[in-house]
Amino acid sequence: MGFRGQPFAFDSPAAAVAGMVARLRIDGTARGAERRPLGEVRGRVLAEAILADRDSPAFDYAAMDGYAVRTADLHRAARSGGSITLRVFGEARVGAEPPGLPDADGAPAALRIATGAPVPRGADAVVRREDVDEHASAGSPGGVASITITGSAAADVREGDNIRRRGENARAGEAVLDAGAVLSAAAIGTLAAVGCAAPLVAPRLRVAVVTTGDELVPPEETPAAFEIRNSNAPAVSAVLGAHAWIGVDRTVHVPDEGGRLVGTLREVLGSVDAVVITGGVSMGHRDPVRGAVEAVGADVVFHGLPQRPGKPMLGAVVAGQDGRQVPVFGLPGNPVSAMVTCTRIVIPVLGAIAGATIPAPVRIPLANPDRRPLGLWWHRLVRINHRGDAELLDARGSGDIIAAGRSDGFIEAPPNAFAEDIAPGALFPYSAWPT
Ligand code: AMP
Ligand code: MG
Repeated sequence: MGFRGQPFAFDSPAAAVAGMVARLRIDGTARGAERRPLGEVRGRVLAEAILADRDSPAFDYAAMDGYAVRTADLHRAARSGGSITLRVFGEARVGAEPPGLPDADGAPAALRIATGAPVPRGADAVVRREDVDEHASAGSPGGVASITITGSAAADVREGDNIRRRGENARAGEAVLDAGAVLSAAAIGTLAAVGCAAPLVAPRLRVAVVTTGDELVPPEETPAAFEIRNSNAPAVSAVLGAHAWIGVDRTVHVPDEGGRLVGTLREVLGSVDAVVITGGVSMGHRDPVRGAVEAVGADVVFHGLPQRPGKPMLGAVVAGQDGRQVPVFGLPGNPVSAMVTCTRIVIPVLGAIAGATIPAPVRIPLANPDRRPLGLWWHRLVRINHRGDAELLDARGSGDIIAAGRSDGFIEAPPNAFAEDIAPGALFPYSAWPT
């Protein structure tokens, strides 16, 4: 089975991604990396390894509000049975050097301590406030003169209880984030915590989106009887632009007359890192993409993949300005095909160029598998139900933009996954539409 009378160049979407990446000869060096403030780096690709500037935590601190104590004192007192009273000698506050825990000649002593406050010298455990009875006194530190704890609770206190130790998260100089990380909210927290206020990030990949089709009008125009609105330009731009490391620099629409596409490609190739074309890539005698891609000197890496939707998809590589290698993708024009192939194949290839570490799609249970044999990789629209499982949507094929708009994303099934009955709950990789 193949396309245009040729066998498929790759036997899966994943292999097509790997084939494009291999053909692009990506060397992993970030060109033109830039330092940006933390408020601007969410979703950008980190272009340097980040090291802890000091131990994390930088000092032993209390993980709970309570009382800093010496376990040896408590255990000794606990052996005599009954409850134990500890005099409160002072208070350890956040952000300040704490007083030391006095040695009260073997009598158990305590210092009041707040979550995040440094553990006083002499103390080796923190007893939680809710585990003691407090005895108030107006003149005492924090209003507490002494606390009482039961003998059995005291015997249970272990050295290190409710204390976070200096360096237990990372040692000074240790790598805390690797180059290639796509900066999440949590990673931005790490950057701030280790004092990296302006990390080096890879430059945005500049992408041109080129739609083709004589039948298309912009969404704000009223189509004539047999015209339709161009939904791919905004939808594909949204799939791309949802990734902060991509910038959709150009969106152009060209009619199907081949010469126009050649001119547009020549023009955009001077200023972008990738081109994504939709439509005009099938077997139609007026489909301009294959001819135009060859006319600008691109090498076709694949044309046709064993997948539904997206069987006619084309991937090519062309030399851009200054010798850069620029991938050119021809996505089928059907709206679901264009969005699925952009998500499944274009984004991972662009991610490799950007040096981004992109996790594989999560695998989630499919609640309602049906029995429909298909010898192709199959991307099927799903909704996520209240249990968090995928449910196949009743969709009319790759032109069904209405079903796509109601879906949360799609699952990817290998050839013939639905040839036999499969049990509900079988796992499939799931890609959500970006929001
Ligand atoms: P094509 O891949 O050009 O043969 O187009 C396949 C189908 O997708 C046809 O029904 C087209 O009208 C439709 N189509 C192509 N491009 C777009 C677009 N940009 N927006 C919406 N539908 C499109
Ligand atoms: Mg067309």
